[in-house]
Amino acid sequence: MEPEPGTGTGTAAAAAAAFRPPERQEQERWMQRALGTAKEALENGEVPVGCLMVYQNEILGQGRNEVNETKNATRHAEMVAIDQVLEWCGQKGRDRAEVFEHTVLYVTVEPCIMCAAALRLLKKLLFLLNLVTDIPLVVFGCQNERFGGCGSVLNIPTDDLQHSGAPFQCIGGYRAEEAVELLKTFYKAENPNAPKSKVRKKQ
Ligand SMILES: [Zn+2]
Repeated sequence: MEPEPGTGTGTAAAAAAAFRPPERQEQERWMQRALGTAKEALENGEVPVGCLMVYQNEILGQGRNEVNETKNATRHAEMVAIDQVLEWCGQKGRDRAEVFEHTVLYVTVEPCIMCAAALRLLKKLLFLLNLVTDIPLVVFGCQNERFGGCGSVLNIPTDDLQHSGAPFQCIGGYRAEEAVELLKTFYKAENPNAPKSKVRKKQ
């Protein structure tokens, strides 16, 4: 029997056509999962930030802050999740740009300046390959008043930074109260000798 026309699967074009931005309800559901990951971070003595990278209803990356565990200040939840997506692409032989193009990041706290810059560079990769759409690349919970790179301290996603990747979309305020509650619990319990210096650089 002949296959019906237009039902082919597996090509990048088919995947692109199938993508639709997630509904609010769906976004809430993913954020619930990210909050669970943030709680795990709290239980392990880490800053409670959790995130997911979701591609076509599938979690390709799930990260939580691992800075204390790895003694590496760059192992933020987003960096952990990005590495997992890259690994998944390698294992499955998938095109990284095509995958990231259809991936939404859900993170409980506004990405910091470092992570926001990393996301810009990913977006630039897509831009160079002519794969730019208006999908909300990042959905976050509460603001990151100390280090936030998506509006709180700097505005990395939309600033005119010619040599640092491409702008991306960011939506905040998803289940922010719960995300803040986790941070408060962590900082209340934290050793008071933690560095308090705040260096605010001018744009
Ligand atoms: Zn970060």
